[in-house]
Amino acid sequence: MWMLTPIAFAGKTLSLFRQPLSSLWGRLVPLFCWLKAVFWLRGATRAQRQQVRGEPDEAEEEEGEDIYVPTTPTSVNYHFTRQCNYKCGFCFHTAKTSFVLPLEEAKRGLSLLKKAGMEKINFSGGEPFIHDRGEYLGKLVKFCKVDLQLPSVSIVSNGSLIRERWFQNYGEYLDILAISCDSFEEQVNVLIGRGQGNKNHVEKLQKLRTWCRDYRVAFKINSVINRFNVGEDMNEQIKALNPVRWKVFQCLLIEGENSGKDALREAERFIISDEEFEEFLERHKDVSCLVPESNQKMKDSYLILDEYMRFLNCRNGRKDPSKSILDVGVEEAIKFSGFDEKMFLKRGGKYEWSKADLKLDW
Ligand code: SF4
Repeated sequence: MWMLTPIAFAGKTLSLFRQPLSSLWGRLVPLFCWLKAVFWLRGATRAQRQQVRGEPDEAEEEEGEDIYVPTTPTSVNYHFTRQCNYKCGFCFHTAKTSFVLPLEEAKRGLSLLKKAGMEKINFSGGEPFIHDRGEYLGKLVKFCKVDLQLPSVSIVSNGSLIRERWFQNYGEYLDILAISCDSFEEQVNVLIGRGQGNKNHVEKLQKLRTWCRDYRVAFKINSVINRFNVGEDMNEQIKALNPVRWKVFQCLLIEGENSGKDALREAERFIISDEEFEEFLERHKDVSCLVPESNQKMKDSYLILDEYMRFLNCRNGRKDPSKSILDVGVEEAIKFSGFDEKMFLKRGGKYEWSKADLKLDW
C-alpha cells in the first residue's frame, strides 16, 4: 500500500498537468515553425539580392581576398609618341620626349601583349598621326588586325592631320576612331589650345564623320570638360554627329604633365568641381551614347603604355613608369602599372569594341 501511494500521487499530478502542457505544446509548435520560416526567408532574399547585384556572399568575399590573380592586359592604351601639333592647356600626355620605337620593336611589344591576353589596343599620343604622316600608325593598325587578329583596334586623335587616303589604305583594319572635340564653338577651341589657325576643328570633325561612314569605321567623340566649355550645351551637335560613344571626361591634374614644377602645362585654371561636372552631365542626360568619366573613375582604370613601352602608374597623381615590357616581359612590368581592374570594369571599360559586333547603320 505504502508502495502504491507515491505512484498514485505521481499519476494524479501528471494528469493535473497533462491538460495545460498539451495546450502549451500546441501553441509552441506553430510559433517555432513561424520563426524558422521568417529566418529562412530573410537568408533567401539576401542571397537573391547578391545574385542580382553580382555581389559575392560574405564567405566567398573572405576567401577571395587571399587569392592573387595576375592582371590581364585586356585593353591597352599605347601612347607611342608624345609629339603633337596642338597645345591644349590641360594636356595629360605632353611632349616631354620625341622618342618613337622602331616599327619592328613596337610590333614585338604588341605581340608580347597579345600573348599575355590583350584583346583591344588603342593607339594614342600626343597626336598619333603626326609620326611619318600616319604611315607608322597605319602599319601598326594593320599588324594588330591582320597578324595579331585582335578583336578591337582603335585610335584617339585630334583629327587635324587625318587624310582620306589614310582611310583608303588602312580603314578596313580599324574598328574605332575617337576624335577629341571639347567645343563646337571655334573660339572656345582656340582658348583651350585646339585652334588650327584658319582651319576649323568643327568642320574637320564633320568631314571625319563622313569618312568613318564611307570606310566603315565606328566613330567616337571624346570631350574633356573644363572651365571653358563647362557651360556649353552640346546636345544638338552630338546627336547630329551620332557617334557610337561620347566619352565625357572631367579635366584631371597629373603632376609632371599638366601640374607641378616639371610640367609643360599649368592646367589648374581649367579644373572644374565635381558639382560642375555633374551639372554638365545632367544637361546632356538625353544623349544615350554619353559615357561619363569623373576623375575618380579615370585615374587608375587605364592601362597606359608610354613611348618606351613602360606601364605608367598614376596612383600617386603622377605617371611613374615601370620597366619596359621589351626588357622584362608583360607579367613583370604590369605589376607596377597601378591598374585598378575593378574600376576598369565598373566604368564600363569592357564593351562591344569590335566593329563586327557593333551592328552599325553606316
Ligand atoms: S590634342 Fe591631345 S595630345 Fe595634343 S595637346 Fe591636345 S590634349 Fe595634348
